[in-house]
Order: sequence, then structure tokens, then C-alpha cells
Amino acid sequence: MKFKPANSIQDLQYFGEFGGVNPSISDSSTYTFLSAKTMFDTFEGNADGCYLYSRHSSPSNLYLGEALAAMEDTETATVTASGMGAITPVLLQLCAAGEHIVSSRTIYGGTYAFLKNFAPRLGIETSFVDITKLETVEAAITSKTRVLYCESVSNPLLEVADIKGLANLAKKHNLKLVVDNTFSPLSISPAKLGADVVIHSLTKFINGSSDTVGGVVCGSQELIDQLRNVNDGAAMLLGSTMDSLRSASVLKNLRTLHIRMQQHSDNAMYLANQFENDGLKTVYPGLTSHPSHELFKSMMNDKYGFGGMMTIDVGSLEKANELMELMQERNLGYLAVSLGFYKTLFSAPGSSTSSEIPEEEQMEMGLSDGLIRFSIGLDADIERTYNMMKDCMIELNILESTLV
Ligand code: PLP
Repeated sequence: MKFKPANSIQDLQYFGEFGGVNPSISDSSTYTFLSAKTMFDTFEGNADGCYLYSRHSSPSNLYLGEALAAMEDTETATVTASGMGAITPVLLQLCAAGEHIVSSRTIYGGTYAFLKNFAPRLGIETSFVDITKLETVEAAITSKTRVLYCESVSNPLLEVADIKGLANLAKKHNLKLVVDNTFSPLSISPAKLGADVVIHSLTKFINGSSDTVGGVVCGSQELIDQLRNVNDGAAMLLGSTMDSLRSASVLKNLRTLHIRMQQHSDNAMYLANQFENDGLKTVYPGLTSHPSHELFKSMMNDKYGFGGMMTIDVGSLEKANELMELMQERNLGYLAVSLGFYKTLFSAPGSSTSSEIPEEEQMEMGLSDGLIRFSIGLDADIERTYNMMKDCMIELNILESTLV
């Protein structure tokens, strides 16, 4: 039977302390013990169900982690204070000094900066490759490699990773495949396709209200226990813990994710089709012109579409800036980084979210100056939005008027 991630979230049942329909929030940083012996056992990791200190775990964080593990079909999960607070501990847990990572070259700028500039200070080197070419990925693997790293749908170029193919490579070379699934929650389930670890920035679609940062690592019980180990766990010791109040609010938002993703995807599909028909260089995995359209289709779960992210190329940064400013003036969205909001968000990644990537490398990977990344919102009337966006483009001579 096909995996239905939204069912897995819905099938969890929580009650609050007094029978509330939402679980009670654990508004405490520390927990009492009835006996000193149990406290000792808990430190040693031998007292199931006991809470010690909220940097380690808290009931609220465990509820959210459990729901996200159900969504990604992994044994368990741990939530973190941000997406970067999930990515960095996982990589540091899986790799020691002298070891090596093979990463997609088109990834979120912050992850790229960590791998390129920070991890080498700790003796961890990364080879950046074109992740769509499995033979290039395999050629970059050395005896020191421990991790294959990619995003299911990459930020900002929307390249699609062949997760099954990468999982086979990982198995063959005894590596861990770590997949950042931030752009395609519900649509793609990387663990089902063989990924060992699935990461999200909860800041984006999953929380969906642009009011917090957050992250999650979904994986095996063994890995999550390692991350939380009081002696050498990277999540525990680097301290990127989510606050319990926040995890309670993210959990409430998670419950509408399936409805929101459908609307984000429907709206993005409509706009991408229209823009492409208008002759704009449009990239969206739902378009048959996307080089990995068939691959995405072969991996996707029913119902949630190809996601809310698309790009268009308007030729130059000046034009991109003019267009974004005009669209914001007309209240068609906000000139802002991030994604997954109810309102459309747009930015020029070359000068914002991917500015950590040097210009020549941006060019090599096809990240052009005039690229605008859209996170398409939940607009109730997307046809009206399209017509208003098109008017902006005609005014700025990005599109020719078709009026006679
Ligand atoms: N992964 C992807 C694909 C992202 O787009 C981002 C942020 O933009 C992150 C990770 C980092 O997440 P956060 O900002 O929550 O730390």
C-alpha cells in the first residue's frame, strides 16, 4: 500500500493533562525526581519516560518530533531551534576530523557556507557535485567519505535529487544519505526512498506562518539517541534546542500542512504554466519542460503536487529588482527571503539567500542574476494574481502586451 504521510500524522492521538484536545505544554526547563537513583539512571540514559532537562528533551518537543517522524516514516525524530540547528549537528555527529562529505552543489546558501567555510576548520572536507549525475557523485566518493548530502528539491535552482539512486550509492559505499526535504514536505518522503536521515527547516512550509525558526532531524532511534547523548551528542552539546512553547505552536500548524501544500502546489502549477506560455524562462518541477519532471513524478506521494516553489528568469538583476518592488507595491506578495508563507514571497537568490556562493560558482551551476525565486502563497483567486503579475511585467517590458 502506498504511504500516506498526512494519514500518519492524523492517526496520532494526543490528550492534554486535563483532557484538552491539544497536549499540555511542558513549560519547564528542568524536572524533579522522586529518587536520586532515578536521576542518575536518567543521566545514564537508562530511565525510560523520565525527563531531565529541556535541552535534552521535553514532552512538547517529543510530541512534535513524533508527529514529524510519522510524516517522514522514520523511527523517531528530534526537533531543533532552526533548520541550520538540525543540519550542523547531524553532519558533525556523522563525520569526524579527517572525514569527507559529498554534497550537491546546489543547496541552501547557509548549508553551503557551513560545508565550505566552517567544517574545514574542524577537518571535515566537502566535494560539491552535480547531484543529478549519479556517476559524478560516485566518482567523488573516497575512502574517507561518510555522508552524501542533498536537498530533495534544491534551493534555489529546483534541481530534483534521485533519492533512490543516491540511496543505492550510499548503501554500496557504506555512507549515510542525508536529505533536506524542506521544499517538498508530504510530496516527497525521502526515507521511503532509502534516505537514512531526513531534515527540515520547520521555518518554512511545515510551520507555514513565518513567525518562528525551527528544524527537525528524522532518523533511526540509534542516530537520534547519539545526537542527544549527554556525553558526546552534537544536538545536546551544541545546544540548538527548540523551546517547548514553540514546538507546541508548530505542532498545531502542522495539522493543516496537507491542505496548505495542496493549495501552494495548485497555485504554483497554474502560475508556472501561464508564465511558460507567456514565453518566460520558468522552472517548476511540475512542468514537463523541467529536466527532472518524470523523476519527481516517480517519487511523489499522491495529492500534494510539485510544491510551492518556482523560479523565473527576467534577464538581469535590475529587472528582477524592479519587478519585485512593483509586485510588492501592488500587494501581490512580499520582497522577502524564506518560504511557505500564506502570502507569496519573492527574492533574487544570487544577491540574497545564495550570496554565500561565489559568483563564478553561481554561474557554473546556472544561478543567473535575473533569477527570481517565488514561494507561491495560498491566494484564493490565483487567476487574478496572475493577471496582476502579468500587468507588472508588461509595464516593465519584461513581457510584451498581447492586447491588440
Ligand atoms: N534548508 C533549506 C532548503 C533552506 O531553504 C533553509 C533556509 O532558508 C534552511 C535549510 C535553513 O533553515 P533555518 O533558516 O530554519 O535555519
